[in-house]
Amino acid sequence: MKRLLIKNVKVIATVDDKKTRIENGAIYIENNVIKDVGPTKQVISRIQHPGSSIQIIDATDKVALPGLINTHHHLYQTLNRNIPAVQDAELFDWIKILYEIWREITPEGVYVSAQVGIGELLLTGCTTTVDQFYIFPKDKPKDLIDYEIKAAKEIGIRFHSCRGSMSLGKSKGGLPPDDLVQSEEQILKDSERLINKYHDPKEFSMLRIALAPCSPFSVTKELLKETVEFARKKKVRCHTHIAETLDEEKYCLKTHTMRPLAYLESLGWLGEDVWFAHGIHLNDEEIKLLAETKTGIAHCPTSNLRLGSGIAPIRKMLDEGVAVSLAVDGSASNDSSDMLGELRQCLLIHRVKSGIESMPVDDVLWMATRGGAQILGRDDMGSIEVGKAADIILINTKKLGYAGGMHDPIAAILFSGNSHIVDTTIVNGKILVQDGKLLNLDEEKVIEKANKIAYEMLKQASKKTGIDYLKNKN
Ligand code: ZN
Repeated sequence: MKRLLIKNVKVIATVDDKKTRIENGAIYIENNVIKDVGPTKQVISRIQHPGSSIQIIDATDKVALPGLINTHHHLYQTLNRNIPAVQDAELFDWIKILYEIWREITPEGVYVSAQVGIGELLLTGCTTTVDQFYIFPKDKPKDLIDYEIKAAKEIGIRFHSCRGSMSLGKSKGGLPPDDLVQSEEQILKDSERLINKYHDPKEFSMLRIALAPCSPFSVTKELLKETVEFARKKKVRCHTHIAETLDEEKYCLKTHTMRPLAYLESLGWLGEDVWFAHGIHLNDEEIKLLAETKTGIAHCPTSNLRLGSGIAPIRKMLDEGVAVSLAVDGSASNDSSDMLGELRQCLLIHRVKSGIESMPVDDVLWMATRGGAQILGRDDMGSIEVGKAADIILINTKKLGYAGGMHDPIAAILFSGNSHIVDTTIVNGKILVQDGKLLNLDEEKVIEKANKIAYEMLKQASKKTGIDYLKNKN
């Protein structure tokens, strides 16, 4: 049995139901499960057979938080960050230009982009991530998504892989080019393959599959309906984008004569086994409907700001009892997978939308941990409590960026600091980040490969379209 003791923690934010904080605390772990939490002296006095081997982390000056949970991402987009042609474009223009670049993705591209994104997430305190992969070009291998699963397994992050899909091509009124969409039959067959091959429903699972048609403007009505029915039969969750922009609202009103949420509701897409990314343009009745049906939201503040999409009514959602989680979204609309940075962004933007008191630190922390666990149907993680998965991050507060701000060390992590790289990230009882460095990934090599593939994708796309993606249209 592997035993790990984290002692002398400056403050532990347990994020339990009472939001308990423990000063000079300790966390004792056996294998992948938290076995004890409390003041250091008490935890040490309760350890059985203290003489036998225990790995010890002395966390003096460090705070401990539950591992952060990212509930929406497109890891492949780490190869499409900061492209001048879409630096200043809104969602529909942005996506139409990017489809032409995304079609150049290769198995190696999926694998390397996942290494980049997952590495960055672990470094910024994330221990569980969702990914929605939906690019399956007709001329590429059909198992591209398997390469991100391979990367996640090798690195050791807890992973919820969403089998994304697009079935409504341009010729049928959708946004994606026809050679980027698949038939409903192909999509459902591959969804079944992935569930059978990878989905682990057990406690402390490291890998689960969810089904995730991309958005109302890229999939058919039939696919949405069949996907949610199939997912319920297989007991997996469903995910999609909704109410991200007013363009999408106009599209749904024109094409389906319904607002986006009503359209999804009409196809069976509400319930505690469903979560949506964004939810910016939802009215009060729609927010109530989400709460009543226990449908979840993945809030992506940076991406929403970056694309000028708007600020989601998160305060209203929390007040109505909607399950809200936090997410970085894909790196073509965030340009970063900085999870801790996302918490700071969330803390700040709602003060502008809904008032200075509308987003306290505790609510942000809750969304980024317990909220994420709830949405993913995981009562085995999200807090530092006995019996929960050993997913923990440690952040060193003895840094200039926090100096003078130790009146409330947990809040300092969101309000202050000048780097979001954590000191230690532990996933499933294993140390994956130590002293701010990834233990399972050669960062230099991955950076080099990613830059090369990113450049190659632009070059290939330019050859076909004649567009210079290095030029900003403005
Ligand atoms: Zn997204």
